[in-house]
Amino acid sequence: MLNSFACRRVDISFEMPLRETEALVLRTHRLGEADKIVSLLTRQYGRLRAVASGAQRPKSRYGGTLEPLSYIRLWIFERENRDLLRINSAELAESFFSMQNDYRIQIAAQYVAEAAERFLPEREANERVFRLLLAVLRAIKRSGEVNRPLIYFNYWLLRLGGFLPDFGVCASCGAALGAQGYYSSGAHGLSCSACQLPQESFGLAVSDLNSVTASCQGTLDRWILSGKPPSGMNEVRRFLEALIETQLERKLVTRDLLEGGH
Ligand SMILES: [Zn+2]
Repeated sequence: MLNSFACRRVDISFEMPLRETEALVLRTHRLGEADKIVSLLTRQYGRLRAVASGAQRPKSRYGGTLEPLSYIRLWIFERENRDLLRINSAELAESFFSMQNDYRIQIAAQYVAEAAERFLPEREANERVFRLLLAVLRAIKRSGEVNRPLIYFNYWLLRLGGFLPDFGVCASCGAALGAQGYYSSGAHGLSCSACQLPQESFGLAVSDLNSVTASCQGTLDRWILSGKPPSGMNEVRRFLEALIETQLERKLVTRDLLEGGH
């Protein structure tokens, strides 16, 4: 599909090599009167930010390609002694715009973009993370389901970053957990019943976590096609999201929106 794109490059100076990459648009913001800064997760170069000149103008050459969560092919170049790259041109590969019709699905997709933008270091290529985001967004779009795609996303984001705790032991004292673990905000893992802070923690069935861990070893599509979501998925998702916030040392705006529902 990508090979069939018409290429609309413009001539640029030989000193600035044009690089071609695929990317997901994580976020955009205005720069001055006419331009936009686009936060991107690229397949080849990792997360980066680039300026799109004139992108705020009504008849911009970018059209609707630079909307958040668009999957695009783009041509970028580096400017000497400048932090930000510049976008030369972009083509839409796949739109996730239809997800805006459902509030909860829209927020779930925005959560993926926000967590990726906060979590991933700039300019560190990681093709597995790129493929993860694309698979998760496609699964949300196709299935209309939120919990399993987000659990899969959170699990692999933590694991690829090296921040996934051992679900079988207490993060405070190291003792093996029984049937139930407890999570309190700010912790890096579950606590046993002796170590938990009763006012602030919520309980999780260790068997649910084990079944999620097993399911996340296969593809997300296979997990979703395997049947109805198992019980306890809301709690597992909240737990993994809390671990991500703990690593980030900040709240994610979309996480509150997910909990708030409509
Ligand atoms: Zn303990």
